[in-house]
Amino acid sequence: MSDSVRVRFAPSPTGALHIGGVRTALYNYLFARKMGGKFLLRIEDTDQARFVPGAENYILESLAWLGISPDEGVGVGGPHEPYRQSERKDLYKAYADQLLADGKAYYAFDTSEDLDAMRASFESQGSAFQYNSLTRVKLKNSIALAPAEVDQLITSGTPYVIRLKVPAKGEVRFQDSIRDWVHVHTSSIDDKVLMKSDGMPTYHLANVVDDHIMEITHVIRGEEWLPSAPLHILLYQAFGWKAPQFAHLPLLLKPEGNGKLSKRDADLGGFPVFPMEWTDPATGAISKGFKQEGYLKEATLNFLAFLGWNPGTEQEMFSLTELVNAFSLERINKAGAKFDVKKAQWFNEQYIKLQDPVALAADYLPKLPADQGLAFVHLFLDRITFPQDLAEKVAEFQARPNIYDEAVLASKWNVDALSGLQFISQALPGVDSWEPEGIKHAIHEVLEANGIKMGKVMQILRVALSGNGAGPDLMISMQLWGKAEVIERLSTALAKFPAL
Ligand code: GLU
Repeated sequence: MSDSVRVRFAPSPTGALHIGGVRTALYNYLFARKMGGKFLLRIEDTDQARFVPGAENYILESLAWLGISPDEGVGVGGPHEPYRQSERKDLYKAYADQLLADGKAYYAFDTSEDLDAMRASFESQGSAFQYNSLTRVKLKNSIALAPAEVDQLITSGTPYVIRLKVPAKGEVRFQDSIRDWVHVHTSSIDDKVLMKSDGMPTYHLANVVDDHIMEITHVIRGEEWLPSAPLHILLYQAFGWKAPQFAHLPLLLKPEGNGKLSKRDADLGGFPVFPMEWTDPATGAISKGFKQEGYLKEATLNFLAFLGWNPGTEQEMFSLTELVNAFSLERINKAGAKFDVKKAQWFNEQYIKLQDPVALAADYLPKLPADQGLAFVHLFLDRITFPQDLAEKVAEFQARPNIYDEAVLASKWNVDALSGLQFISQALPGVDSWEPEGIKHAIHEVLEANGIKMGKVMQILRVALSGNGAGPDLMISMQLWGKAEVIERLSTALAKFPAL
């Protein structure tokens, strides 16, 4: 049991979950399902200063919308409860104490003013301050101070942090599933704070302790955490634990492909970078969400899966189950993934066509009689990007044209077209069965009888009825406008079209 795959998504509730975070959750989920393992959701809320109310709920709702369902964790429970780090607070202290007892960590009493002064003095000499094996011996901590002094500081209630004692010499190495071997010299790693003066663990300590306790086998997370990984490896070594396998996912890049995708890009480009709409509780500012913008969950998942991964085949459309079957860490790219919102729209267009038309009509054209709504759905299904475009298309369709496509008129409006439209307008009142075949037959018959080719008239007829040179099936459109309306529109156009 202990060597079966266990992965986790470990977001911090510091605001709306970025779409990149959803991709991380998805890849963890896919990997767990593929390997027959477990997917955990852990909320990393130890940084009280950055806590944002509503953010945890937002994370849960976003994952639920997409069907990325955890097997264990916040909202579902499991053998390692609680899964919210703020509720595990007392546990971390014991682990920090273990490192202190083993000489792998130490107390540090430096105030932030002390550290600022150190930084300034290093800077004035043209170098950067690091709290490490060279500097720690001269600072205010339990390595530099006499034991009695340390006891006195602690008993008198002097605030302190606990820092990791990073070995002076050595190399940290690990093999990342995506980036292959990573080597870092310990001299480039700070003696990071493990426990803060408020008694809370830092991200690093809580993350490593929980991954160990929760028996996480693979840590699949964003590339922004790669710089922290060597420190995490050192922590595993300090505890004497086996480190999980790391896999750092490629960054999401701006649509143009250079630089990291930001919320600003999204605002400028008018596209969402959050799964669902989010209202910032502090400012009231609203950010767009994929869901509210009309992206279907199937399209969102398919789009996200392809941001940094590909199946190695030509297939692009994948259901969640197909993604599970096709997924592997080996096929994740190292290079950043361009956030091409056009591709997201393309997926949406494909998935809309696979939706139940009856449900689309009921949900998006609720005011129309069911049969009419359904007819409109069929008419516009391959001409919309988002389901809510349906209502707009119907409104446009039902409005009488007030301008007519000038380019088509310039090239196709001639005496043949004029007499064609006149014959059609005479024939239409006599059409008894007002449905596409009947209408088409009547038009065909009257034009043929008068020696006018259909091809000379049909686009002009479309312009006369809709104002546009192109659009959905004209015969079905005529049926939906209704006989009286078509006759009316045609006679208006004949009066308004330029004299020949
Ligand atoms: N709490 C971190 C975050 O917000 C987790 C990083 C990790 O997966 O280790 O992304």
